[in-house]
Amino acid sequence: MADQNEKILHRLLQQDGNSICADCDSKNLEWASYNIGIFLCTRCCAVHRSMGAHISKVKHLKLDKWEDSQIQRMIDVGNKSARLKYENRVPACYRRPKENDPQILIEQWIRAKYERLEFCMIERPSYTSGRMEGFLMKRGKEDSRYQPRKFVLSGLHDTLRYYVKEKREPKAILRISELNVVYAPSKIGNPNSLQLTFMKEGTTRHIYVYHDDPEVINNWYMAIRCAKLHRLQIAYPSASESDLVDLLTHDFTREGWLLKTGPRATDSYKRRWFTLDDRKLMYHDDQLDAHPKGEIFLGNQLDGYYVRIGAPPGAKDQGYSFTLFTPERVYNMSSHSEQDRDEWIAAIQNVLERPLSPQDNSISARLIRKRGGTNPKNIFTGR
Ligand SMILES: [Zn+2]
Repeated sequence: MADQNEKILHRLLQQDGNSICADCDSKNLEWASYNIGIFLCTRCCAVHRSMGAHISKVKHLKLDKWEDSQIQRMIDVGNKSARLKYENRVPACYRRPKENDPQILIEQWIRAKYERLEFCMIERPSYTSGRMEGFLMKRGKEDSRYQPRKFVLSGLHDTLRYYVKEKREPKAILRISELNVVYAPSKIGNPNSLQLTFMKEGTTRHIYVYHDDPEVINNWYMAIRCAKLHRLQIAYPSASESDLVDLLTHDFTREGWLLKTGPRATDSYKRRWFTLDDRKLMYHDDQLDAHPKGEIFLGNQLDGYYVRIGAPPGAKDQGYSFTLFTPERVYNMSSHSEQDRDEWIAAIQNVLERPLSPQDNSISARLIRKRGGTNPKNIFTGR
C-alpha cells in the first residue's frame, strides 16, 4: 500500500492549488498537514509543528509513512478548498506573506488562519477598526535605549500619536497617510519589531519599536495598513481596492553598508548605512539613526541621473566602487564585494529607468525645499 499512497500523493501535488504551499505560495513542497489536509513548504511546516498537534499534524511527503485515512483526508480537502475555508474573510488590508517575507509575518498569518481562526469568524478583527492603542517599546532618539511609550492610532484623524507621559501632550503626531512601516527584525535585533518612516520638516524620520508579543506587533502593522486603506478609499472612491492595497506599505528595496566619500574627490571614504526606499537613497551613520545624514532623490535617467561602475575621475577607487550621477552632485560609493556592488547598481538602475509618478514629484519637491531652494538647477526643470 505504501507505494500506492506515494503515487496518490504525487498525483495530488499536480492538482490545481496543490502545487504551491498553502500558506506562502512557495513551489518547494515537501510536507503536508494531514489533519487540515494541505500541502506545505518546509518553512511553513515548522510553524505548523510549533502550534502543536492539536492544531496541525504534519508529515513529510516522502520520508514518513502514510496511512490510508490520512491520504483520504488529503484527497478530500487539498489547498484550494482549505483556502476557501481558512481565508474566507481575510481583510483587504492584510498583507498575505510570500515565500521570503519576515518570519513574524509568516508565523502570524499561519496562527491567524488555523489557531485563532481569525478569517473564519464573522466578527472583524480589531485592527480593522481604524483605532488602536497600546504600549510599544520605542528606541530613544538620543540615548538609544528602548522605553515603553503609549501609541494611539486614529484612522478618523489620520494620526498616529505617541506619548512619553500619558496625561501630557503627545510627543509626536504622525500622519498615517504619509507613514510607511516595515518589519525590521535583523536591524533591531528583535523578531517582533517595526520601523516607522515618515517625512518631517523636509527630512525623513525613522522610529524603531518592538513588542514582546508577536501578535501585538503584527496587529499594529496591519492596523496602520487598514487605516491607510480607509483614507485612500475616501480620497479615491472610484479606484479599485486591489490598486489601493498596493499603495499601503512598501518594504525597502535594499539596505546595507557602503563606503562613501564626501563631495570632493580627495575626501576620504566613510562607512555609511544605505537604505534604498523607492526613489530615495538615504545614508546614515548607523543602522538605527533617527534621521539620515543625507537623502538623494533618484529621478529618471532622461533627466541626467545615471549610475556607473568605478570611481569618478580624480577619486580613489577603493574596493568595488560605483558612482551615482545626479544633476546636482556626483556620489562615489564603494562596496565590499563585486556581487554586492552589482546588486546595488542594478537596484538603483531599476529606479532610474522607471517613469516618475505624481507622488515621486511630491517627495522630490519636499526634499528640495529642505535644501532651501538654493540650487537654481531644480531637477524637474526640463531635461
Ligand atoms: Zn510556505
